[in-house]
Amino acid sequence: MNNSLTIALSKGRIFKETLPLLAAAGIEPVDDPETSRKLILDTNQHDVKLVIIRASDVPTYVGYGAADIGVAGKDVLMEHGGEGLYEPLDLGIARCRLMVAGPANAATEKSRLRIATKYVQSTRRYYADRQEQVEIIKLYGSMELAPLVGLADRIVDVVDTGNTLKANGLVPLEHIADISSRLVVNKAAMKMKHARITEFVAHLKTAVTA
Ligand code: AMP
Repeated sequence: MNNSLTIALSKGRIFKETLPLLAAAGIEPVDDPETSRKLILDTNQHDVKLVIIRASDVPTYVGYGAADIGVAGKDVLMEHGGEGLYEPLDLGIARCRLMVAGPANAATEKSRLRIATKYVQSTRRYYADRQEQVEIIKLYGSMELAPLVGLADRIVDVVDTGNTLKANGLVPLEHIADISSRLVVNKAAMKMKHARITEFVAHLKTAVTA
């Protein structure tokens, strides 16, 4: 029976903060993705591999079963919708907040605000729940620029320290959701490799609560 594990991770903050949790589960990568160009990393366990992909692709890889397990921000999961995924554990890492932000002195009497964001689904849901009509403009990055050049009245983005907003003369206005990284598991893999994955999740859970 195939009992191997493929774990999908993104580079940067999520990778760094997940490493100690993996180590607690006895898994240590052989290569460092920050210096290696490999997209599949071997680990000290012969049947455990890490695949290094874009953060926003993690739910897709895990949803289709190309990876058994992944680590993804709640912001990414809220956009994806979570089809084919279990979300058994909040890892409590890469914490931030999904927020509406805008210029400090912005006029609010406009009937239909333009909101620039890469979080189109979350933004649509947030304003629909409040029964506010807005126009959403999809961007892929540097949302902070949009209000400065008249593309949008507000942005929806993740905020950590708030330094990026401040540096661009923007202020946080409304809190949409608290964000942290979650463990996601492919639903079919959870059935087929139940004992192995349950044990892995239990090890991570112990490390998270420690
Ligand atoms: P800040 O610390 O608020 O200046 O955050 C700087 C930028 O980093 C923000 O605009 C976000 O795009 C990004 N960022 C901060 N924290 C996270 C996180 N936990 N997950 C994803 N992106 C983040």
